[in-house]
Amino acid sequence: MTRVTTSVWNDLVGQRRATAFLKRAAASGTIAHAYLFVGPTGAGKKSAARALACTLFCPDLGCGSCPACRRIHSGSHPDFHLVAPGGVAGYVIEQVHEMIRDVHLKPIEASHKVYVLEDVGRFNESSANAFLKTLEEPPEDVVIILLADDYDDVLPTIASRCQVVRFSPVAESVARALVVERTGASEDEAKAALAAAGNVIPRAIAFLNSAGRRNARATIMSILKRLTVMDGHDVLLAARELLTAVRAPVEEMKEIQAEEADAAREYLSKGGVTTMEKRHKRELTAQERDGITEIMSVTESWLRDCLVMAKGMPELVANVDTADATAEVAAVLSVPAALRGLDRVRAARERIAYNVSPQLVVEAMLFDIQEVLRCPR
Ligand SMILES: [Zn+2]
Repeated sequence: MTRVTTSVWNDLVGQRRATAFLKRAAASGTIAHAYLFVGPTGAGKKSAARALACTLFCPDLGCGSCPACRRIHSGSHPDFHLVAPGGVAGYVIEQVHEMIRDVHLKPIEASHKVYVLEDVGRFNESSANAFLKTLEEPPEDVVIILLADDYDDVLPTIASRCQVVRFSPVAESVARALVVERTGASEDEAKAALAAAGNVIPRAIAFLNSAGRRNARATIMSILKRLTVMDGHDVLLAARELLTAVRAPVEEMKEIQAEEADAAREYLSKGGVTTMEKRHKRELTAQERDGITEIMSVTESWLRDCLVMAKGMPELVANVDTADATAEVAAVLSVPAALRGLDRVRAARERIAYNVSPQLVVEAMLFDIQEVLRCPR
């Protein structure tokens, strides 16, 4: 049996069964050609996919610190592919055809290639059919890992061709402890970061390391606090202010990318530079989308705070730094009104998923919440 250093698995908390299973497969050289990782957002499915890629690419079977491991984590390894649905409605057939062509090319640096497909509940019948043969019999050196929040969302034709690995929800206290350990933040800061990051641990850690994202959260909180006394014009300005605030982290990312590009141009080929530029563009689009999502997550967690306070359970408040202001709102807000507000945020999330302009979505959401706060019974 080969030795497996475990460091790349260390960030996967609360998933002993899933990680033990995958580590065993890696150690015995019996990694399957296709996996379906199923579990709620924040369970660590993507981290586990990265860890599995590390065990394949790393000379020490996943040390976490060699160039291969680091590049998998930064998303810059040429043989590690993270794929998201390419269309508003999900995976599109052109995207699947392109991926199949790519799957059959030889690895560039590593002995294998790993494809991680997010959100595979969003395959439709025809994009799935185009993919099935490849999923069933990929080339020897390819591992395909599919991710889904809910098993029932995945088409049976897809699920039946994969080895299913289940991830359980991670307890908030466990996630919080890891965020505190990794960042040195206080318990309260870690709690608020997890709430803003939709309970995804790596995203919460990145949140605490980004001044731009922390400022954006502060902007959202201050707008929510003033919302009831705003007139229509103020609300429109507030929406614009929010969208400007979530642009700042995108600019932060651009600077980091520019540094990487300067350093990389010295040793990368022309093709390598093009690949890097494509990746940078994808990362920026993702950051923009995450910024908008973060507006929704922070708003949601604030409303949930109002709700738990209205129910007399202040110990469950996620945003302790704004608890005083929240308490004032909670004092007049009824439980049904808070639930109505949460419903409005959910609707806003759906509109974003369907590519409605972020400006319009945020404006509508603020007006909706204002209405809830003004008629709090
Ligand atoms: Zn390594």
